[in-house]
Amino acid sequence: MRATDFSARVLEWFARHGRNDLPWQVNPTPYRVWVSEIMLQQTQVATVIPYYERFMARFADVQALAGAEQDQVLHHWSGLGYYARARNLQTAAQIIRDQHAGRFPEDLEALLALPGIGRSTAGAILALAAGQRHPILDGNVKRVLARFHALAGWPGQAAVQKVLWTLTEQYTPTTQVAAYTQAMMDLGATVCTRASPACGVCPLQADCKARASGCQADYPSPRPRRQLPLRKTRMLLLRNAAGEVLLEKRPPAGIWGGLWSFPELAPDEALEAGCVERLGCRVRLVDEWRAIKHTFSHFQLQITPVLAIADERPVAVMEGRERLWYNPDSRDELGLAAPVERLLQRINELQ
Ligand code: SF4
Repeated sequence: MRATDFSARVLEWFARHGRNDLPWQVNPTPYRVWVSEIMLQQTQVATVIPYYERFMARFADVQALAGAEQDQVLHHWSGLGYYARARNLQTAAQIIRDQHAGRFPEDLEALLALPGIGRSTAGAILALAAGQRHPILDGNVKRVLARFHALAGWPGQAAVQKVLWTLTEQYTPTTQVAAYTQAMMDLGATVCTRASPACGVCPLQADCKARASGCQADYPSPRPRRQLPLRKTRMLLLRNAAGEVLLEKRPPAGIWGGLWSFPELAPDEALEAGCVERLGCRVRLVDEWRAIKHTFSHFQLQITPVLAIADERPVAVMEGRERLWYNPDSRDELGLAAPVERLLQRINELQ
């Protein structure tokens, strides 16, 4: 099939069935498209929409994002996961403010130099917001192309990725690039879906190799399975007489970097002695809850929540850590990791 026929069919389908009411399609400035692309990287459209709308209401442009407190940014990301995305977003906004006079760069090299922006994201921003011809290769496009060509191999492998980049480059038209880019995303998200592709309504069905062999489910090949290592930690859910809970800010790098969390206890650390030493207060053990698991991309974390009551207010800052007493009822804008938020809810239900 000729590349021009491929894009013509996709564009024709898009004109009739594509999505045109997504919030980032309204006034698609590079800033608005960028934020949407970052949010959509590991998250479904339906989940992203309310986050996106709240984020835009709060950080309407690069300046607003660059000048915000990191806590506010992380708070607006709380629940979306992969928090490095939010930290990178704000760092990139600060670079744009300081090194590009606040104007969003509109060339590929400058975008690729910003933290958190890879080749596909940069291409999508420039195609959707500026109509520039750049190919994209997000998860949806990989799936459509892998099936259309019955391309074997996991797309995370460099050799497979190289073939996919060549294909997407070849199919990207020279005109109507914004529409084509959105069309490919929509086709993957609404027709050539992961679990049940609707080949009967697909504009590419006549030439799709996966469809011809009935092997749509085999493409793209899944990531080779591996057992995630298990790490264990204990988290101290320490309340005071006012019902407030002690939180501390995590170091900027590492898991949940910059988010607020419960203090962690080493596996063999004695609760009472540890709290006297680290927090400067005496505590009483109340309960130990059943462990919960949280999955990261490279490991699983088993968290055992340890409930305790503080007899007195511990010193707020020790060991260079920022700490605060948090009222679980409050609407304070703190960035909280998802399991921490769930545990706070559970503590609140006890009261
Ligand atoms: S025909 Fe089916 S498998 Fe092939 S691209 Fe279209 S939806 Fe995907």
